[in-house]
Amino acid sequence: MTVIGAAPTTTQGAPGFAPRYRRRLWSVRHARGLAALYRAFERSLRAAAPLVARIGAGRLERPVAAVERRVKGALFDCKMCGQCVLSRTGLSCPTNCPKGLRNGPCGGVRADGACEVVADMPCVWVQAFDGARRIDGAGASIPPLPPVDNRLLGRSSWLAVARDATTAAP
Ligand code: SF4
Repeated sequence: MTVIGAAPTTTQGAPGFAPRYRRRLWSVRHARGLAALYRAFERSLRAAAPLVARIGAGRLERPVAAVERRVKGALFDCKMCGQCVLSRTGLSCPTNCPKGLRNGPCGGVRADGACEVVADMPCVWVQAFDGARRIDGAGASIPPLPPVDNRLLGRSSWLAVARDATTAAP
């Protein structure tokens, strides 16, 4: 599998990051347990696909997106891009990159693992590699990610999982 660049050095716990980033740092630190929880949740979403189809995904979109926004906003500073890649980025949301980079860090990561643009923010990609290692071990890699489709902005990724399960059903 093609991987993106080399994994930068872990800087988890490095001093100097603003307190407002503590939740996303916590989530990366607990990536292994949270990823296991999410896999179980994803199975539930797929199992609920027939019910979602019966009710109509369109009718569920607003309430489900509202819950998703709250839960993932609290845990990951989610921006509701509508095509969640957290399970592939060590539970670090790449949408928080000020440069909008979806496939690895720019060349400007600071020596302490901070963002080049926002000096007191941990680089989301350094965190992504850290989280991936916590989930998959030292040899973890992050696969190339598809470009962002702005038409999905604000939509629920959870519902998309259920919809995909319906589409893929034989
Ligand atoms: S990748 Fe998208 S849906 Fe997933 S946490 Fe980030 S903004 Fe939210």
